[in-house]
Amino acid sequence: NTKSLELLERRKNIVANGVGVFNTATVMDAKGAMIIDADGNELIDFAGGIGVVNAGHCPEPVVAAIREQAGKYLHTSFNVVTYEPYIELCEELAEILPHGEKTKVMLVSTGAEAVENAIKIARQATKRPAVLCYTGAYHGRTMMAMTLTSKIGYKSGCGPFAPEVYRLPFPDFYHYRGLKSMAAFVKDELKRLHESALNLVDVKNVAAIILEPIQGEGGFTPIPKKYLLGLRAFCDEHGIMLIMDEVQSGFCRTGHWASWQHYGVQPDISTYAKSMGSGLPIAAVVGRAEVMDAAASGTIGGTYIGSPVCCAAALATIKYMKAIDLNQKAKKVGSTILGRLKKIKKVCPEIGDVRGIGAMIAVEFVKDNDPSQPDTETCSKIVDGCSDNGLIMLNAGIHKNIIRILCPLVITPQQLDKGLTILENEIMKAYN
Ligand code: PMP
Repeated sequence: NTKSLELLERRKNIVANGVGVFNTATVMDAKGAMIIDADGNELIDFAGGIGVVNAGHCPEPVVAAIREQAGKYLHTSFNVVTYEPYIELCEELAEILPHGEKTKVMLVSTGAEAVENAIKIARQATKRPAVLCYTGAYHGRTMMAMTLTSKIGYKSGCGPFAPEVYRLPFPDFYHYRGLKSMAAFVKDELKRLHESALNLVDVKNVAAIILEPIQGEGGFTPIPKKYLLGLRAFCDEHGIMLIMDEVQSGFCRTGHWASWQHYGVQPDISTYAKSMGSGLPIAAVVGRAEVMDAAASGTIGGTYIGSPVCCAAALATIKYMKAIDLNQKAKKVGSTILGRLKKIKKVCPEIGDVRGIGAMIAVEFVKDNDPSQPDTETCSKIVDGCSDNGLIMLNAGIHKNIIRILCPLVITPQQLDKGLTILENEIMKAYN
């Protein structure tokens, strides 16, 4: 693999060390669920560019739409000259992701920017400063998004962080170590939420509560439905904006356009990026019209808000996702992954947990079947073993002891089977 090694050596020499790298894979070409590396090797992609290529690498209609738009105009700035692809994309997003009676949308380029803008909009809509977020959360690397992010490894040495941000424990039943039932646990976590008004922050100052209904970087932990319902009621009671960050869980990953549709709990504002543009940088803030319109002119925007080429890519992606019913495919792919991983857990009871919704599935490695003893070493051995055998894989969680699967949802049954077989073999090896 000389070309790959050469490329990695050049990377090491010139790219800042802080730009992390998960594994040693390189790319020359990518289609569907497959990546061809610089030496011509075929790799199965279970990382999907961190959840960006749900519709596959280079879907033909998306590439065609990008080419067509690039031939017309590349940039005017939507703040200066209006273009149709931006408006059409907003109309499409409002249709598939309705927020109340009337929905409005703004576009930006990245997930972190979407989060920044969601907070700015919520603050203007409520005229309040404070924001509540959760442990295990990941919202991006700009300063507010980084403040909202939980894992210290993502922010160490980067402060001072934004003020008026408060954090609650994410209601994570698997890692709860007591004897309560799930129902009693959720009841107590909701009590903790209500008590935060007494011991954490004055609710009259809280603009928003932001969460990922299924945490991504945190380790694919779904929020219990009863908790989300209680959270919605709490926000309504106190006039707080409920923001759902769907950057990783959106665009068919869970078998819906957004995971909140799975729960049937509507946010006031929600954020999208990643798979919406099939790899081009495009993100959206979607919300109830009166909330979105509370942001004053000049307070949200920028030079590259919704590039026409990226809008064309997103429009073509949504059309393609609808045409091939990618939400349905996600459910099928997800049930295959879940079934196979549950089976391997039966053979290897040391595996801590197999969980997820739709095709957002993860497997957690712990010692002695004890959720409080993360097994980072075994997890990293498995990820490396997969990589050596042509399967690109991502870890997750504050202890990096979780494997999360973000394969393109257009993966063929044969490719999926091959990938899962590699993963199963590496798990078996690690426990023998
Ligand atoms: N929110 C969530 C839930 C994410 O998973 C991510 C990216 N992993 C972000 C926000 C930030 O998105 P971006 O990297 O595009 O800024």
